[in-house]
Amino acid sequence: MIVKMSNRAEKKDIEKLISHIMSRGLEIRMINIDKGLFGILGDITTITPQEIERYQHVESVIQIQKPYKKASRLLQENDTVIDIRGIKIGGSNFTVIAGPCSVESEIQICDIATSVKKSGAKFLRGGAFKPRTSPYAFQGLEFEGLDLLQKARAHTGLPIVSEITSTKLIDEFVEKVDIIQVGARNMQNFDLLKELGKMKKPILLKRGLSATIEEWLMSAEYILAGGNENVILCERGIRTFENSMRNTLDISAISMIKKISHLPIIIDPSHASGKWWMVESLSKAAVAAGADGLMIEVHNNPENALSDGAQSLKLDKFEMLMKDVFQIAKIVGKNITL
Ligand code: PEP
Ligand code: MN
Repeated sequence: MIVKMSNRAEKKDIEKLISHIMSRGLEIRMINIDKGLFGILGDITTITPQEIERYQHVESVIQIQKPYKKASRLLQENDTVIDIRGIKIGGSNFTVIAGPCSVESEIQICDIATSVKKSGAKFLRGGAFKPRTSPYAFQGLEFEGLDLLQKARAHTGLPIVSEITSTKLIDEFVEKVDIIQVGARNMQNFDLLKELGKMKKPILLKRGLSATIEEWLMSAEYILAGGNENVILCERGIRTFENSMRNTLDISAISMIKKISHLPIIIDPSHASGKWWMVESLSKAAVAAGADGLMIEVHNNPENALSDGAQSLKLDKFEMLMKDVFQIAKIVGKNITL
């Protein structure tokens, strides 16, 4: 709910109304103090607009129809910018995360990390716990994978992004990973989201396979509602009737998210297409549309990768792509730090 006081309202009028609202166990978020504009958070079913309108100098009370609030731009005008070891995601910053689908060996992850860093990536990705469609497919190196990621971080200085698959792994991830990824398949694992809301560790929240933008933002809301404001959204393609690609990249989600939310949005063109040769054009399109960054699967030997080789870029192709992508990012007004 958003309350706008008239310009005749004095500080004491606003304070009186606010203390009434807070006495109902609700929270206040000031939007613009000078304009007497504030939001009410919490279980707003316990208060009605009419109850607020009884107070003096209340100009209007707007009930926000959307069920997400903390994720909404209505309650926070400015873009959320997340600082991870001095690297910023969101706002005018443009940030690339790159690395293999799965961590396979020390030499593999360190070679890829060294190369993607040289090409301009600011984070290293790598799956250690892999949520695979088939139980017979490679499930990841698990704890050893996390340790190898740490070695690659020590080797290159690149902070790491890795996917969590269970609440049981939270302590391990908090200690070892810089951004915790929640995969598409776990976007509505509400127990996991609630636990991740209890910390400050940045969370990369992928869009569910068939999730609407509202469902995705509601999942972000779970993390935000717990008190963790460091949420990065990641669009990775959705299921549509089209079956010639792995998924369909929803480029329009970038414009929509930018309009309705303050959270950063990055694009994963690799899972969106499932095809390495599509990654270049989808990346460029995403950057031109205003994405805050990209997450790209890169491998030093995609033909023999243990997962997602067909959508992984070779090191040299990634290097070339980054040159173009940074040019486009500059044109659309993003800051690039190389
Ligand atoms: C991944 O990033 O390797 C992954 C499994 O992605 P998604 O959850 O988007 O399928
Ligand atoms: Mn993958």
